[in-house]
Amino acid sequence: MPTAADPSTAPAPTLDTPTPIAVAYGDGIGPEITEAVLRILDAADAPLQYDVVHIGKAAYERGITSGIPEDAWTTIRNNKVLLKGPITTPQGGGYKSLNVTLRKALSLFANVRQAKAYAPFVDSNHPDMNVVVIRENEEDLYAGIEHQQTREVAQILKLITRPGSERIIRYAFEYARAYGREKVTCMTKDNIMKHTDGLFHEVFDEVAAEYPDIESDQLIIDIGAARVAAQPEQFDVIVTLNLYGDILSDITAQIAGSVGLAGSANIGTDVAMFEAVHGSAPDIAGRGIANPSGLLVGATQMLVHLGAADVAQTIKNAWLKTLEDGIHTADIYQAETSHREVGTEAFTDAVIARLGAEPDTLKPVRYRSGGIHVEPAPTPAQEKVLRGVDVFIDWDDDGRDPDVIGHGLEEAAATVNWGLKMITNRGVKVYPDGLPETFWTDHWRCRFLPADAEAIDFARILDLLGALHNAGWDVIKTEHLYTFDGRRAYSLGQGE
Ligand code: NAD
Repeated sequence: MPTAADPSTAPAPTLDTPTPIAVAYGDGIGPEITEAVLRILDAADAPLQYDVVHIGKAAYERGITSGIPEDAWTTIRNNKVLLKGPITTPQGGGYKSLNVTLRKALSLFANVRQAKAYAPFVDSNHPDMNVVVIRENEEDLYAGIEHQQTREVAQILKLITRPGSERIIRYAFEYARAYGREKVTCMTKDNIMKHTDGLFHEVFDEVAAEYPDIESDQLIIDIGAARVAAQPEQFDVIVTLNLYGDILSDITAQIAGSVGLAGSANIGTDVAMFEAVHGSAPDIAGRGIANPSGLLVGATQMLVHLGAADVAQTIKNAWLKTLEDGIHTADIYQAETSHREVGTEAFTDAVIARLGAEPDTLKPVRYRSGGIHVEPAPTPAQEKVLRGVDVFIDWDDDGRDPDVIGHGLEEAAATVNWGLKMITNRGVKVYPDGLPETFWTDHWRCRFLPADAEAIDFARILDLLGALHNAGWDVIKTEHLYTFDGRRAYSLGQGE
């Protein structure tokens, strides 16, 4: 069953026994900031044990193109949680991005990025902004299924799945509960993409109904992104598809003015990875001036994930108090708002000295124990019926006159009892009765329905394809037309 417990009755486990986690110190400033973060975790009595893995630059230099040696994979898999310092990606061909490899191999389906302003202590154009973008990380156009089909046309498949959508949306609501947030906003473009983005929106409405304690709403992504850019303080948690989330999380990071203080989480069903948003900053490595805040914020996300919300809260509030007291590393130091410029070590000491304290001006954080657990519900059974087929044809003859291809296809299809319903070019109906203004490429989507039946089997499609092929038509792709539980599961052509 899905996780939909009432927060007042849900069990609230805490981490009583030390939990082993994998730790990668990373490259560049990685070792300095990781050392600092572990020191703060220890001082706060975080119930953790560290299993160090050596990934990144050293592994790349040993010829491991993924940057992750076999023993590190085993440790990460066994521990299920990785706290990762930034990694230097080597220049030049042959090397794979370690983050992309981890994300894909470990099925890290959710990317969570908070963009928050810490004004007036750190400058921001949007002083009240505090947005979390929860981005689906595996599906959508990033499945990478692309083909060139004709001389003029290439396509990509946008894959949206019910379990994938449910998992990320449920994660967003569970996240909102764990972090005491009030609203989850879904952003899609389902006014245009009714079956893919529409599925995401539909699942959002279903899951939202299970979380009556959290407000929910939906915005079309274009106006949503514009509003995020103009009035980010109106948003709380945003959940969205992969591509939109990629763009949106960069917009929010940019306008918050605090990228250097941001943590990032990549969450999977089994394994989760926590890190800073920034990179390995080779320009300041080894100088003892790096700001450990981004990784520290990532570590507090990790503690909430593991069910140690109390420790996360103590650390985060001590860190907020340190910022508020004007104890700042060079990257955020400003003569008007800062009191003391410090290096990594002194900043770390200042946070440790404030463990147990809360900020006065900035809002203290309140986290709920219990961790975040997501179990997607099984997809319900549905009756699937095959009704027809869209056949895509590469055709570039006779001035691309739609009547020529239309009549030709009708003639071939009639020999096996199929009828041609319509032809579209780039989604616009061109036959029968198209408009002369429509631009025609060499890529024709031809919708066929059986002349003698409501439902058919696959053999009838093979008959049709055989007839088209024998008549000389260049078939490049087919898409079946189904209904699921009687509901049409394909889009109509524009003008159909
Ligand atoms: P970067 O984030 O490392 O540095 C950008 C600028 O911000 C630099 O001037 C740097 O000194 C400063 N900076 C970054 N973090 C800081 C900190 N904690 N304290 C003070 N100043 C800080 O970005 P980049 O220079 O584009 O990338 C450097 C390397 O990091 C590259 O190899 C890149 O591939 C890698 N990288 C890794 C990750 C990751 O592991 N998740 C993310 C981004 C970049």
